[in-house]
Amino acid sequence: MPVPKRKRSRARRDKRFANKGVKETAIALCQQCQHPLIPHQACSDCGFYKGVKVMKTKSDRGLKRKKQQKEKKAPEQETEDKK
Ligand SMILES: [Zn+2]
Repeated sequence: MPVPKRKRSRARRDKRFANKGVKETAIALCQQCQHPLIPHQACSDCGFYKGVKVMKTKSDRGLKRKKQQKEKKAPEQETEDKK
């Protein structure tokens, strides 16, 4: 019968039990966009929670930035037309 050559260190043994308490996280789907998310948290994709917009998302900020850039460019064109 095979026998281990050396004693397993406490560290090696305890690494095996370290994963024992890890539980599988629950995943829900966003009511607005069907994006997978953690229950009872706002959707990071669309910014909605229970059908209400509660926060700005990265894409919202991107749209706002594009609008601001267009507004900045527009006045410059007007001044060039006047000259
Ligand atoms: Zn969503």
